[in-house]
Amino acid sequence: MLKAEDKKITSPDGKLVVQISANAGLPSYSVSYNGKIFLKPSPIGLKTNVGDFTKDVVLNDTVLSNSIDNTYALPNIKKSQVHYQANEAVFLCSKNGKRAIDIIFRVSNNDVAFRYKVYPQRDKLSCVVNEETSGFIFPEGTTTFLCPQSKPMVGFARTMPSYETSYTPDAPMGENGRDNNGFTFPSLFKVGTQGWVLISETGVDSRYCGSRLIGRADGLYTIGFPMEGENNGNGTASPGIMLPGYTPWRTITVGETLAPIMETTVPFDVVEPRYEASQKYEYTKGTWSWIMKMDGATVYDVQKQYIDFSAAMGYNTVLVDALWDTQIGYKKIEELAKYGASKNVSLYLWYNSNGYWNDAPQGPRGIMDNTIARRKEMAWMKSIGVKGIKVDFFGGDKQVTMKLYEDILYDANDYGIMVIFHGCTLPRGWERMYPNYAASEAVLASENLHFGQHSCDNEAFNACLHPFIRNAVGSMDFGGSALNKFYNSNNTPNRGTKRVTSDVYALATAVLFQSGVQHFALAPNNLTDAPAWAVDFMKTVPTTWDEVRFIDGYPGKYAIIARRQGDKWYVAGINAQKETIKLKLKLPMFAAGSQLSLYNDDAALNGKITPLKINKKQEAEIVIPCNGGIVIVN
Ligand code: CA
Repeated sequence: MLKAEDKKITSPDGKLVVQISANAGLPSYSVSYNGKIFLKPSPIGLKTNVGDFTKDVVLNDTVLSNSIDNTYALPNIKKSQVHYQANEAVFLCSKNGKRAIDIIFRVSNNDVAFRYKVYPQRDKLSCVVNEETSGFIFPEGTTTFLCPQSKPMVGFARTMPSYETSYTPDAPMGENGRDNNGFTFPSLFKVGTQGWVLISETGVDSRYCGSRLIGRADGLYTIGFPMEGENNGNGTASPGIMLPGYTPWRTITVGETLAPIMETTVPFDVVEPRYEASQKYEYTKGTWSWIMKMDGATVYDVQKQYIDFSAAMGYNTVLVDALWDTQIGYKKIEELAKYGASKNVSLYLWYNSNGYWNDAPQGPRGIMDNTIARRKEMAWMKSIGVKGIKVDFFGGDKQVTMKLYEDILYDANDYGIMVIFHGCTLPRGWERMYPNYAASEAVLASENLHFGQHSCDNEAFNACLHPFIRNAVGSMDFGGSALNKFYNSNNTPNRGTKRVTSDVYALATAVLFQSGVQHFALAPNNLTDAPAWAVDFMKTVPTTWDEVRFIDGYPGKYAIIARRQGDKWYVAGINAQKETIKLKLKLPMFAAGSQLSLYNDDAALNGKITPLKINKKQEAEIVIPCNGGIVIVN
């Protein structure tokens, strides 16, 4: 008989507590905050083809503990300097008297991260992980804010899954997504009246697969590997690791309010850069014609016009989207790059990731999937001063695809090229791991506003989810902040889909949604048909920040956050609810009596900019109508 063993690890402030045990050889852990249970005793362990480490596991009496105190730079996401303090405990586990795995926990004030180290078993120096039983059991009454995983090989040109499904807020537990395929990370839970939990993973690279969350009975969610059908069935769903070797980090962010969820840096705290930057990378703003004008407009004259437009906005890049290889051609792209350089505007070029994993027909194809073709192309790009690439239409989350992401990034760094991913997976710590990583889509992004009125009608609802879920763990290339009233080539009334959100809303989302590199959905006609105050705001709004703070909000209803760059604060808010909201915001970042500027909407969503004086208690009263916004700046 194995004896019951209990071990505990607490956060530096003592409030977050993880309790580990191995009753009857079954390892488990639980999480509490301020004395309240957030995760009940939950399974831990993994099954590999060199051993089943989910049962008959003995926790060694010796626990290796370590306090971590790191400061690191994080220029491209959330806050420019991070101070990470955590207590680490390494639980040594044996099976049949032999060293089997370590379970490594790091507990900071609002975040738990854990992973496994697997040891060689006899002469086996490699293994396949068939299942991770790592799970999360929530107390009864917990509700969920989850995004279902798509079936593989469906959607446009069989390109799914690409993290482009809709969230259901405040849903009961006990579901397992569409077609029983689980949910994508990150996954938000509201634990009764006591607070919030965000589950995700980080540190995923070529050495593992991306995972999803599987919903089970009795409040249990477990780690799920990719579906066999992803990547057109090629590559294994079960990851392989060299031994000794590590699995990625599972992360649990816990808060009594949404502040620790929205402000978390855990995806970056527990990872390390995978290689050195070949140069100092610049995080730029730019424009792209595709969002208003679509495929047919990837032609020389339109791209030249957008270079002029980017220059007029003071932006440094233009994104030339799909089909430039045939509709512009390589020689004319060189001319375009030269023309852009004369205006201080560099090119981002679009590429298909294909490949053998789906049927996306847009060119250029057959380059990014192959290291020989890719490096030759990147050498050409470097020779004409191309700043970055946007690679689209990936094939899922299997280890073979994670390797493709890493290989593209690593090769691109050799040529000083930054990388945006589209039609892709969630970034998992990549802002810190890969120095030339720019952003990922992995969201129902602005293109859907062009594709269908339903998306326009739900624009604010979705936007009120992202700061607390998708964008909380990594760059989100939404490509938004449109000032066109209509999604068509020249903002012609009553053609195509109609934007129902206000101009102030558009400005607010430029602050709410973060990617270090942004290509906004602005159009040259906005220089004359949008309010001057809106265009001026979009010229100067930063894309990288020194600090971020949650102010108020509820996922899917309204969101108000603040970001700081230097001495300048931007407080941005939007409202998706039918009713106008009136709030008294506590804004401790502004001194009592400060004179500020307020961008806000009237009841008919007409925006204006007015002076605002903060009261003695450092409060400001604000009103946001449905589909409207506010921005307060000092
Ligand atoms: Ca997409």
